[in-house]
Amino acid sequence: MLPKFTYVRPTTVNEALAVLNDRPSLIHGGGTDLLGCLREGVLSAETLVSLSAIDELKGIRKAKDGGLRIGALTTVAEVSASESVAQGYAALAEAASEVASPQLRNQGTIAGNLCQKPRCWYYRGHFDCLRKGGEMCFAVEGENQYHCIFGGDMCYIVHPSDTAPALAALGAICRVSGPSTSRSVAVESLYVLPSEDPQSETILNPDEILTEIVLRAPANGLRSSYRKVRTRGAWDFALAGVALAIVFDGDTVRSARIFLSGAAPVPWQAKAAEAAIVGTKLDAATVEKAAAATVASAEPLQLNGYKIPLFEGLMKEQLEAIRS
Ligand SMILES: Cc1cc2nc3c(=O)[nH]c(=O)nc-3n(C[C@H](O)[C@H](O)[C@H](O)COP(=O)(O)OP(=O)(O)OC[C@H]3O[C@@H](n4cnc5c(N)ncnc54)[C@H](O)[C@@H]3O)c2cc1C
Repeated sequence: MLPKFTYVRPTTVNEALAVLNDRPSLIHGGGTDLLGCLREGVLSAETLVSLSAIDELKGIRKAKDGGLRIGALTTVAEVSASESVAQGYAALAEAASEVASPQLRNQGTIAGNLCQKPRCWYYRGHFDCLRKGGEMCFAVEGENQYHCIFGGDMCYIVHPSDTAPALAALGAICRVSGPSTSRSVAVESLYVLPSEDPQSETILNPDEILTEIVLRAPANGLRSSYRKVRTRGAWDFALAGVALAIVFDGDTVRSARIFLSGAAPVPWQAKAAEAAIVGTKLDAATVEKAAAATVASAEPLQLNGYKIPLFEGLMKEQLEAIRS
């Protein structure tokens, strides 16, 4: 059952910030994750601050440099349907179209997608786990088939968002407003590993709002993609996902940013794979090497070793697809 709370619906970011600063509150974007968390007792708050009446947070605009500014309240469906996104940032369009179901994409916002809570069944269930302030992670020796193979330390969640690895690969920046200042944070720097803080997923303070995502103009020669493998054909989180943003100079790789989903408690940068392909023509031997490098440092748990060949195969297929 949903607990009781006060619901406020400010019309400007400043009004929303004033409420967040004034009393213990939670931000309500589309509510598709938040309401479940309240119902399950994962989160609690006296006040919900809905952003839904704040027009300045809505929509996708062209930036002066030719890039895009995506308002926090833009729905995942709008991102997936945007021609500007599809033309310059295929990885983001593909990731957004793979999120959940049409209904959830229509209601869920891009900022909510980045800030959603993890899906670990111990965390979401009636377990006093480390992430909820308890003393242990139940996944280490439990049902850990969907948990992480990189970056696990005390807690073994996987980061759930599909759009986060795509945006990180594309070098997107989040604009964050707080009570007295605003700041810019690279998408990959938004997230926190359990070794840094096992009870937070992001660096956002409770009185801060993610207001906008900024994508710079696509570099000449940029090709990007996102693909995820999931248990069901639809409406499911990634078992393994690969976001590629590769800048080609002719047929040579000039630069590469590669992030994995379903792999780690944060969107996981596959640095060894990036290093394996930069400066190469991405021939078959290089693709094999990069795919092997992707999983070389993986540390699977008892039940999720299958993710190693899954990531290796997915990386191979995605690199082959992007070079052709
Ligand atoms: C059945 C199901 C399947 C799903 N499958 C997928 C999937 O395959 N891939 C995927 O990526 N996601 C999936 N999701 C998650 C879904 O995409 C997210 O729930 C949705 O995008 C979140 O957006 P929202 O606006 O509804 O967020 P909300 O529920 O409103 O908020 C989520 C969290 O973000 C915080 N928040 C929201 N907006 C802001 C902001 N502007 N600034 C700071 N904090 C903010 C809230 O306080 C809350 O903690 C699934 C969800 C469900 C219920």
